[in-house]
Amino acid sequence: MIQLYIPLNFLGVLYREIKQSLADMERLFKLLDQHREVADAPDAKPLVVSGGEVRFEHVDFSYEAKRQILFDVDFTIRPGTTTAVVGHSGSGKSTLSRLLFRFYDVQSGRIAIDGQDIRKVTQESLRRTIGIVPQDTVLFNDTIEYNIAYGNPQASREEIIAAARAAYIHDFIESLPDGYATMVGERGLKLSGGEKQRVAIARTLLKDPAILIFDEATSALDSRAEQAIQAQLKEIARDRTTLVIAHRLSTIADAAQILVLDHGRIIERGTHAELIARDGAYAQMWARQQARQEVPASPGGDLDME
Ligand code: ADP
Ligand code: MG
Repeated sequence: MIQLYIPLNFLGVLYREIKQSLADMERLFKLLDQHREVADAPDAKPLVVSGGEVRFEHVDFSYEAKRQILFDVDFTIRPGTTTAVVGHSGSGKSTLSRLLFRFYDVQSGRIAIDGQDIRKVTQESLRRTIGIVPQDTVLFNDTIEYNIAYGNPQASREEIIAAARAAYIHDFIESLPDGYATMVGERGLKLSGGEKQRVAIARTLLKDPAILIFDEATSALDSRAEQAIQAQLKEIARDRTTLVIAHRLSTIADAAQILVLDHGRIIERGTHAELIARDGAYAQMWARQQARQEVPASPGGDLDME
């Protein structure tokens, strides 16, 4: 246990400050603690990315010994293409992205990028290669500029603005009294879910990763905002190897490959047209979603998948 020998009056003045940084530290430590078991191999080498092919080879995984989460998951994302994963809540979709980012190691099988087992490369090089646009973006208690530049600390002012423009958030930022110096996060300006996602997109554009993971938002954003964001995501995904965790099937109908995950197993795979023709689980989900979209009381036509 670390002991703090800081005078109480000093603490009093900085109480809010410290409390806020602790909130971030807590997140950080939660993450570190959770992923403590993953360490660089002694002879770990930097990942060398050529095309950005992602392979899951017969992957079994469990968080806890007694409960297996993934069973013999086997698929390849060809370089520069999009693979979408669909399935009910708890089927293991987000686990796939956590494994690809190597927050955990697989129990058997392997995950390889351009033929290199991700357990044999440095975590730093792995995480530099992969960009994630998460379901819920965490903003740091800092300026909006800092939050965007976080994707690439070396970025110039011009690059940051270019990324913000491409993510359609530049005009919004300019409209704020403090512009790019506006404080955001828990203590500053509260951004909406869509605005936070745009910050995440700008961040990812600055990072310019070879491999991309999107965990689609589940909330029923109004469909105009949703469509705008989807168009941006497609633009970023073009020519990059992309794994999309999809909640709305309409957004992934043009994916090169769709995987249907059920209780940790891939039960169907193919293109949208192939899966519709197959008339199985995917076709059922699609039909249900189409039916819902026609009912105005259910905005966005989101599935009960999450
Ligand atoms: P999905 O994204 O498809 O909703 P997840 O991949 O998040 O599903 O979770 C798959 C299963 O793994 C769920 O049953 C979930 O409860 C379990 N799970 C997720 N994270 C953890 C964890 N850190 N420890 C133990 N079980 C977990
Ligand atoms: Mg999930």
